[in-house]
Amino acid sequence: LSTWSAVPAGPPDPILGVSEAFKADKDSRKINLGVGAYRDGAGKPYVLTSVKKAEDLIATNHPDKEYLPITGLPEFTKNAARLAYGADSVPLSQGAIAVTQSISGTGALRIGGAFLARHYPHSKVIYLPTPSWGNHTPIFRDSGLEVRNYRYFDKSTVGLDFEGLKADLKAAPEQSIVLLHACAHNPTGIDPTPEQWKEISDIVQEKKLFPFFDMAYQGFASGSTSRDAFAVRHFVSQGHQVALAQSFAKNMGLYGERVGAFSLTTADPAEKARVDSQLKIVIRPMYSNPPMHGALIANGILSDPALYSEWEAEVKGMADRIISMREKLYNMLSKDLKTPGEWGHIKSQIGMFSFTGLTQLQTKALAEKAHVYMTADGRISMAGLNAGNIEYFAESVDAAVK
Ligand code: PMP
Repeated sequence: LSTWSAVPAGPPDPILGVSEAFKADKDSRKINLGVGAYRDGAGKPYVLTSVKKAEDLIATNHPDKEYLPITGLPEFTKNAARLAYGADSVPLSQGAIAVTQSISGTGALRIGGAFLARHYPHSKVIYLPTPSWGNHTPIFRDSGLEVRNYRYFDKSTVGLDFEGLKADLKAAPEQSIVLLHACAHNPTGIDPTPEQWKEISDIVQEKKLFPFFDMAYQGFASGSTSRDAFAVRHFVSQGHQVALAQSFAKNMGLYGERVGAFSLTTADPAEKARVDSQLKIVIRPMYSNPPMHGALIANGILSDPALYSEWEAEVKGMADRIISMREKLYNMLSKDLKTPGEWGHIKSQIGMFSFTGLTQLQTKALAEKAHVYMTADGRISMAGLNAGNIEYFAESVDAAVK
């Protein structure tokens, strides 16, 4: 008998499984709207020009291949924190932000989960929005936290269930941890307004909740990295101590390079130094130290004013192309095809994704009959649409709904 004969087959990953089904499909009209990776107007993966230039500079310099420190490239983490918290951030200027490089956003969440499980003195419970990115629950559960949920999505309006959100945060035990998507909520594409963020901040303060921000899409929501950082910066300005996971997968298109950062705001430089020392103790047994190349690229962009402005324009270009696809799709469904249903949310949703409201049966039919792939919850990556396939997509949705 083999040692592993009793290992049961696990379910395929709900998002990456969509890509596998897409790959196996031989139809030339096939469209993959499952995975959240940006595609250009021709449907191709997009390497940013600012990234190419930063890589050229790295290649010219032939940096050595020594290990990075446990918490990564120091210039990179400093610049990543400035991008998120803002150049005028008080804890940043006080030297009170503990920050480490991470294996993209996923690694940042995992380091944060493990650090909170070990050192957050008040609670081991983290509240996630319903729905949330599918990987949040296993990340935090495997980190040693207990996962609970707060209401977020209102099916009837395809909008934010703000009353439900507030009621659930008010009902949570004091000092629980609460995960907040900083911008471009995945999968719904629905964000609180700045006014609503202020109310959420007040509830978090009243209930002494601990806010953990996941910012995987800074710049992708509005096209402006500073506008998308509103929630994080507002909370910090209100005196909250926060945890923050950052990813450069989407906004720099560095998916496979795995570049991210995890940070905590602390009281003062002495406390920061103690927190830093414990972050190292969490990270060292996980993977010793992070990879270098992606951090060199991101830092090359963040530290060079010319590359930085070129990058900002490219982020805006990606966000704008997605917004234009939202307009087009909305017009095709609601005006040209008169597809049954209300499609306004496609235009009002923010960031990479649209939560279409298509049912599981309809998404299944779209895959089988039209070769159009999306996650079973009806989430589509808007970035997978372009002038060449949007009409076919709209007609396929129309057929699936009728
Ligand atoms: N958080 C959210 C909400 C996400 O959507 C993603 C990517 N899909 C991540 C974190 C992490 O992605 P990565 O590890 O590729 O940075």
